[in-house]
Amino acid sequence: MKPAKSSPVQIARRGLMLVISSPSGAGKSTIARTLLETDRQIGLSVSVTTRQRRPSEVEAVHYHFKSVREFERLRDSDALLEWAEVHGNFYGTPREPVEQAMAEGRDMLFDIDWQGAQQLQEKMSADVVSIFVLPPTMTELQSRLHRRAEDSEEVIQTRLANSRAEIAHWREYDYVIINDDLNAAFDAVQSIVKAERLRRDRRHGMFDFVRELLEETPSL
Ligand code: ADP
Ligand code: 5GP
Repeated sequence: MKPAKSSPVQIARRGLMLVISSPSGAGKSTIARTLLETDRQIGLSVSVTTRQRRPSEVEAVHYHFKSVREFERLRDSDALLEWAEVHGNFYGTPREPVEQAMAEGRDMLFDIDWQGAQQLQEKMSADVVSIFVLPPTMTELQSRLHRRAEDSEEVIQTRLANSRAEIAHWREYDYVIINDDLNAAFDAVQSIVKAERLRRDRRHGMFDFVRELLEETPSL
């Protein structure tokens, strides 16, 4: 007879690749940061970029800041899983940490644009769960970019001009969230993550669990 189970049953599963995109200023980094602080099962994919560091950003925490030459070297040596030019700068996802996380069944969060989302979807569709974040209005998007107060007026104007082209890709994502109230938007993201972790096709450990379940004969 098997002893009664004292701890919750753990079912082995594949890691999630949670992709979040939005036009600049819609709030995806704020949502991503809150998720990373509250959910210890998920890690951030730290991108490389040729963009200038913002005052609040820390090397290797928010990005690995690189020269164009260094970026091209990484890209040409196949060290990037995906890359794109966004708002006039290069951005890319280092391959090695992602492959390691997936092999270990750990979840990873990607704050990347639609071009990167498409590339990950093509390469690793079974593991990708994608969320697009929309602002409630374009006026609010503009005021959030100003309120963030980390970019020059010229950079803000470029990002606003590009926002309509980014939004045009909303239908390529699994989920779409309107970030009006931040708490509500974050709740929605948490619900998506919770449900996606429970998907049958992700939980390969379920085979062993069900086999053992059916082998068990309850004692009277
Ligand atoms: P993104 O990563 O999409 O470019 P950020 O997360 O940096 O955008 O958010 C842009 C600005 O908007 C930040 O100052 C952030 O605090 C603010 N913000 C994010 N979500 C909301 C919200 N729901 N309501 C009001 N302000 C928000
Ligand atoms: P920001 O300069 O505001 O940090 O980012 C600008 C845009 O680049 C955002 O849409 C962000 O999601 C995207 N981005 C950041 N890192 C990557 C990356 O590694 N790959 C791709 N394709 N886009 C990225």
